[in-house]
Amino acid sequence: MKGAPVADESLSVGTARGAAPFPLDTATPLAQLLAGNQRFVAGKPRYGHHVDAPAARTPSHRPWALVVGCLDSRVPPEAVLDQDFGSIVVVRTGGHVLDEAGLGSVEFAVCVFGVPLVLVLGHQYCGAIAATVRAIDSGTPPGGAIGRLVDEIEPAVDRGGDEAERADRAVGRHVARTVSKLSELASVRERVAAGTLEIVGARYEVDTGQVTVLGR
Ligand SMILES: [Zn+2]
Repeated sequence: MKGAPVADESLSVGTARGAAPFPLDTATPLAQLLAGNQRFVAGKPRYGHHVDAPAARTPSHRPWALVVGCLDSRVPPEAVLDQDFGSIVVVRTGGHVLDEAGLGSVEFAVCVFGVPLVLVLGHQYCGAIAATVRAIDSGTPPGGAIGRLVDEIEPAVDRGGDEAERADRAVGRHVARTVSKLSELASVRERVAAGTLEIVGARYEVDTGQVTVLGR
């Protein structure tokens, strides 16, 4: 299977009951995610994620943003961005490193759901980045599939100096590299050029719960 257009006829795409309306511009989704984060930080989340939520049990959905984030247990996007069922789709891997399956999932969100926003969310105290710093300093890359994560994160890490500071500086750089990697996808590039899709990098602070948008 190569080069075929993504067909959506057989997929169940439609606004879920009780879900927020699908925004047609690229600015509204980011504003909604940041507003949700402010509710989270303020300790006043709107959504509780229970089975009786109107948008939870519905045969179709039409999410309006994709979040690409880390697997870290402290950074679940639906919680820290306070979003309901049916609102956002999420791809999470160690250090938001994207292999072919991850990129395919991004294309699925972009082409099938037509999300106007992709948010790449790095975070403070990322274990995958810390492991990469240690691997560089020790000269001993981890074996197995973890080594693939380290290989992808390694270009974002400074050489020499305090381990924690270097890991922290690498967060934003690694987010920027992931944004660039996504921008190389033809499906993404075309939509960004047409103004129907925006890819935004952001950083989550474990200390405060705050999400900050990085350079755009
Ligand atoms: Zn992480």
